[in-house]
Amino acid sequence: MRLVKMRGISQTYNTKITFLGTGTSQGVPVIGCSCEVCRSTNPKDNRTRASVFVETNYLHLLIDAGPDLRQQLLRQHIMHIDALLLTHEHKDHTGGIDDLRPVCFLLKKSIPIYGQRRVLHVIAKDYDYAFKKNKYPGVPELKLCPVDERPFYIEQTIVKPVQIKHLHLNIFGYRVGNFAYITDASFIPDKEKQKLQHLDMLVLNALRKEEHYSHFNLKQALSLIEELQPRSAYLTHIGHDMGLYEDISKELPAHVFMAYDGLEVFLP
Ligand SMILES: [Zn+2]
Ligand SMILES: [Zn+2]
Repeated sequence: MRLVKMRGISQTYNTKITFLGTGTSQGVPVIGCSCEVCRSTNPKDNRTRASVFVETNYLHLLIDAGPDLRQQLLRQHIMHIDALLLTHEHKDHTGGIDDLRPVCFLLKKSIPIYGQRRVLHVIAKDYDYAFKKNKYPGVPELKLCPVDERPFYIEQTIVKPVQIKHLHLNIFGYRVGNFAYITDASFIPDKEKQKLQHLDMLVLNALRKEEHYSHFNLKQALSLIEELQPRSAYLTHIGHDMGLYEDISKELPAHVFMAYDGLEVFLP
């Protein structure tokens, strides 16, 4: 149990969630776009690629490592990562894995990467230099740990994969305690929804207001939140076409929030 001072009041917490990135695959602003969101001067409208950092009393877990990872770790002063969990193999979720190098140097150990066998196969191919027999000195020390849909342990912490659909691709969300992280979902089977009951905090992807073939839009995300009834829900993997942070925030139910880069949430 640790202590944090919020609005002058000291509170204890066991889990801290930090949003490293909350943007869709291109990030916001989008290169070459001059819409009002991409031109916004509010830092909450500036979104790097989606990733979250989960700190419990026992473990520091990174979920996804997109191409903005270096800037995200510098911004949040993160130096200690015990393990990386991958939701799927798309580059906006895996493109920053080489930037785990300084963390390996600092900790003097390899970083285990958990994900489906298919996903880790892609990592082994994309970062082949890190897995060679005679490695170039200074490559990231990574250990691939394939998992299936069954709950698994990282040290003494139990992690529960949630099988979701990203269009036709079977990808994973993860539940750790009463926190769950779901990104890039376009469909969640009823059986898997059972794993998302009684949550203190649900993070769920919501791309924009318009429908999209491979991501929930705002309406679909809100109706799923209504169905699952978490204590609080945070929207992530947001595109520039969602609208301004300030405008959309006003439209949400009291326990649902737009996440933004750098947001920290403390759970009991
Ligand atoms: Zn994505
Ligand atoms: Zn734009």
